[in-house]
Amino acid sequence: MTEELTARGMVQEEPLLWEKSRPGKTGFSMPRRDVDPVDLDDSLVGDGPDFPHLSEVEVVRHYTRLSQWNFGLDTGMYPLGSCTMKYNPKINDRQASLSGFTSAHPLAPQHLSQGALQLLVELERLLCEITGMDAASLQPAAGAHGELAGMMIFSAFHRSNGSTRTKILIPDTAHGTNPASAALCGFKSVPVRSGEKGILTPEIVAELMDEDTAGIMVTNPNTLGLYEANLKEIADIVHDKGGLVYADGANMNAIMGVVRPGDIGVDVMHLNLHKTFSTPHGGGGPGAGPVLVGKHLSKFLPTPRPEKQGDQYVLNEACPDSIGRLHAFYGNFGVLIRAYSYILTMGGKGLKDASSYAVLNANYIKEKLKETYFLPYDQPCMHECVFSDQLQKESHVTTLDIAKRLIDYGFHPPTIYFPLIVNGAIMVEPTETESKEDIDRFIQAMKTIAAEINVNPNALHQSPEFTKVRRLDEVTAARRPCLTC
Ligand SMILES: *Cc1c(COP(=O)(O)O)cnc(C)c1O
Repeated sequence: MTEELTARGMVQEEPLLWEKSRPGKTGFSMPRRDVDPVDLDDSLVGDGPDFPHLSEVEVVRHYTRLSQWNFGLDTGMYPLGSCTMKYNPKINDRQASLSGFTSAHPLAPQHLSQGALQLLVELERLLCEITGMDAASLQPAAGAHGELAGMMIFSAFHRSNGSTRTKILIPDTAHGTNPASAALCGFKSVPVRSGEKGILTPEIVAELMDEDTAGIMVTNPNTLGLYEANLKEIADIVHDKGGLVYADGANMNAIMGVVRPGDIGVDVMHLNLHKTFSTPHGGGGPGAGPVLVGKHLSKFLPTPRPEKQGDQYVLNEACPDSIGRLHAFYGNFGVLIRAYSYILTMGGKGLKDASSYAVLNANYIKEKLKETYFLPYDQPCMHECVFSDQLQKESHVTTLDIAKRLIDYGFHPPTIYFPLIVNGAIMVEPTETESKEDIDRFIQAMKTIAAEINVNPNALHQSPEFTKVRRLDEVTAARRPCLTC
């Protein structure tokens, strides 16, 4: 390791609370009693709950140590491609924890929930302005849930025109959730091959689009981190055949304030508020994947719809063409508050700057590392860049080895083996919130790893070296999970 790469992992052994338990220890003391004791009926009380016996300091250290086994954005850079692991300003958490929000009850009458309803209405309006769409529903709880909502809207639209189309076009650079969402809604995916430059060409879409195809689902920017420059032309082709255009907007972090999908022919899209609009994520939730539509499809949005009627905010349930309810109450409200706070604190210019820096940072990494790691699509990228292990093949070192070694240098590994169209992909998304110093440290770590491969490739198979657990047997871990230790 070189001097400036100082992370050396952290090894804090910590047994289970049950193993630390010693009879009679407790974490509290009771005040002296000032009433006479009463014998309780043993048959009612039994032996009491089976909790471990521990002192207060043991409990505090236990959980603090466990928290230090974790790696999060508050620990360091997390360049996990496709996931937009940006630093989330604490002010957004603070707004979400204001007592007016945390003690609001979803069953409270509407006239007592005016502030919360106003936030829903205004957030929908802001998201529409950012995307160029006309109406939105904040209900979906994740990106994939927004996609499902979008596919249900596709289906409802075609049904309302008296047709039942069965297929949907899905490019090979789409996110994996896209075909899954389409299938869940009953559509059959038709794969679309990207052109040589890693983006879609109008010709190939024209060949595949027919009147049994409900439309196309395009991830833009796509999973190679490339902008689908032909989307407008492709949208015209799809619309000419009566189809609809879905944009997976989970990568909106690359284009805020620069392109509005609604202006280039997109009919339905979703956003990932937990990626682009500031919610700590990575542990599986909660998230929010609002679905946004053009005017012609707004009647199909999930119900109820928050609206302003006169000077009152209401939840409109009278939506006869709606695809129905997709979430208990109105979605994951805490995530929505964070997004609202993020948008207002950033402002229009701030959002545009965030996207510009996200793109600049990814291009910087791409340029600095393209001599060291193979870059299959050597052209300007958006918010992420995709390398592969092709140059390391001869040394029998793989993408997995490189990713594991990065942990030794204090970085969360990038996304690996995705997108599928690049063998051994290493997908790096630095986001806009990393400083140049941290990005340079990441580049230095990647170069150091490449140099280590030249000297002693076999050592890389053992990485990570400085972690609590070394290389895991991922196959056994998946097939025979041990859930207690
Ligand atoms: C993350 C992501 C999704 C899925 O979002 P979830 O919130 O994880 O369901 C879909 N598409 C793209 C391009 C993504 O990056």
